[in-house]
Amino acid sequence: MRKIAIYGKGGIGKSTTTQNTVAGLAEMGKKVMVVGCDPKADSTRLLLGGLAQKTVLDTLRDEGEDVELDDIMKIGYGNTSCTESGGPEPGVGCAGRGIITSINMLEQLGAYDEDKNLDYAFYDVLGDVVCGGFAMPIRDGKAQEIYIVVSGEMMAMYAANNICKGIVKYADAGGVRLGGLICNSRNVDNEKQMIEELAKQLGTQMIHFVPRENQVQRAEINRKTVIDYSPEHAQADEYRTLAQKIDANEMFVVPNPLEIEELEKLLIDFGIAN
Ligand code: ADP
Ligand code: MG
Repeated sequence: MRKIAIYGKGGIGKSTTTQNTVAGLAEMGKKVMVVGCDPKADSTRLLLGGLAQKTVLDTLRDEGEDVELDDIMKIGYGNTSCTESGGPEPGVGCAGRGIITSINMLEQLGAYDEDKNLDYAFYDVLGDVVCGGFAMPIRDGKAQEIYIVVSGEMMAMYAANNICKGIVKYADAGGVRLGGLICNSRNVDNEKQMIEELAKQLGTQMIHFVPRENQVQRAEINRKTVIDYSPEHAQADEYRTLAQKIDANEMFVVPNPLEIEELEKLLIDFGIAN
């Protein structure tokens, strides 16, 4: 089983990209589990058709410790297994706690066992900075592979660079590696070239450039991935390609985070000055 964590700045498109990629993998016949690691608990909505998924933390709160796997894991599009960690009420407690609790709970309840025949587990993790509970998926060998969703906007690139620093920190102990950057386009000038160059300087690859496309919103309002909602649409093929590239990926590195001056130079060379 490959365990993959998706990181990136809030709102960059982690949940959308994760679920669409997972739909692509499911179409290829892969058995996939998705674990939402964001207190927003919207990491599996498109796979479950909008079904309100009760989070692990809510289930524990309502039902005590006597929880079964079916209580916290629902089956979605393409036989995917879907779990939402959830989080504390806003402003109360550590938002990362839910992630730790749910991964432990899933392990205890046998979600990763051989008989589940999982090919992939995906963690959709909130956060620009890899700290506390949000580092959990990449610590202790929970996830071996990271993909960072990024765009050509400065804050998204800044977050990606910070996440790389987090990966470096845990690379020795847990063996986690960066598998690549996924550019989720914001239609910034020279975006593709800029993210390719960022990837190069980080020592990784831009594994795919996902175009910005309104069909993503049309599918979203219908509570579906693009692959499910409009399988013939060109955007569905983009996600299928990304799924295939991840499935075939063999480039796993410990990244070299950039100095802030290097990051700014990249933006000036490719963006602002052009
Ligand atoms: P995150 O999980 O990183 O917070 P989301 O996946 O929730 O971000 O995406 C934020 C918004 O951006 C969503 O409304 C989604 O529909 C939209 N979005 C994501 N990717 C694309 C894309 N390639 N084209 C158009 N809209 C997109
Ligand atoms: Mg999200």
